[in-house]
Amino acid sequence: MKPSIVILATGGTIAGISQAPAQAGYRPGKVDVRQMIQSVPDLDKLARITGEQIANVGSQDISFDILIRLACRINQLLNQNDIHGIVVTHGTDTMEETAFFLNLTVNSPKTVVMTGAMRPANAISADGPLNLFNAVAVAADPDARERGVLVVMNDRIHGAHSLTKTNTTSVETFLSPVNGLVGTVNYGKSVYFRYPFRRHTHLSEFSSRFCQFPYPALPRVDIVYACIDMPPDLIDCSVACGAAGIVIAGDGNGNMNQATVKNAAKKAAQGIFIVRSSRVPTGTVGRNVEVDDDACGFIVSDELNPAKARILLMLALLKPTGRQQIQQLFYAY
Ligand code: ASP
Repeated sequence: MKPSIVILATGGTIAGISQAPAQAGYRPGKVDVRQMIQSVPDLDKLARITGEQIANVGSQDISFDILIRLACRINQLLNQNDIHGIVVTHGTDTMEETAFFLNLTVNSPKTVVMTGAMRPANAISADGPLNLFNAVAVAADPDARERGVLVVMNDRIHGAHSLTKTNTTSVETFLSPVNGLVGTVNYGKSVYFRYPFRRHTHLSEFSSRFCQFPYPALPRVDIVYACIDMPPDLIDCSVACGAAGIVIAGDGNGNMNQATVKNAAKKAAQGIFIVRSSRVPTGTVGRNVEVDDDACGFIVSDELNPAKARILLMLALLKPTGRQQIQQLFYAY
């Protein structure tokens, strides 16, 4: 019997419509899940497909409210014996954040695959239909299990921990620069190279919180972008607005100017969680390299970019915890 796959649609360019097929301007989130399924030839040969509309927005408008509803719906569905996998369609702008959030909050070893498109549904050479075909093939493939949340785009299979968007317009936008690809998929035939190294899904300590009411409210964590002559009072603004934690998108190995280091250390001493990440797209941020993290009370993001570091810190702050425990989470997830 064919596996049962549920497609959960959230919008994005894959559901977008442009005024003319050869024009860059378009509106995301215009096509619904039923039309999207119908636009892909032979999808029903891969699996028994059903679809649900979770949202229909450009992924720049994905909120934590939508993310929590999505995670909880996935957990409900995967709890059913007759459902084998999930495909989430999503805009590419914040795909890596949603993938990482789901990687930490899905409470099942069954496969969850995200996909999207760089070109609207009616554009010349729209990439959405083949991406959706490949995503369903991977979700239906028993070999894809236990690899965490996957993102399938442009024949590549990425892990949620490692992928990042690198180009504003090209269909080859996602790369996994730190750890490499999980595999490849071509017209539904997949090859896998590795299992993700970091903890995820049913092995994540956060995932059981997203299975039943009441769903947790996430604390505010801000990202502050470092640059030449960075104003140190950006940190004060975040704290004044209620941030419990701040991720610094640092220069190089998570650096910021001396004035900001001093101010951030002052805030860390007052109980604000400061994580040093990097605005550089590849490489890790290490402890005590140019900044004395031990003395300043900072945490380093290790492999996580600022957007993903923010998500991990928000989840970590759901329960009372200390800096050293959070540092260990950054090495584990
Ligand atoms: N802005 C769009 C979105 O993220 C871009 C895309 O889907 O490619 O929804």
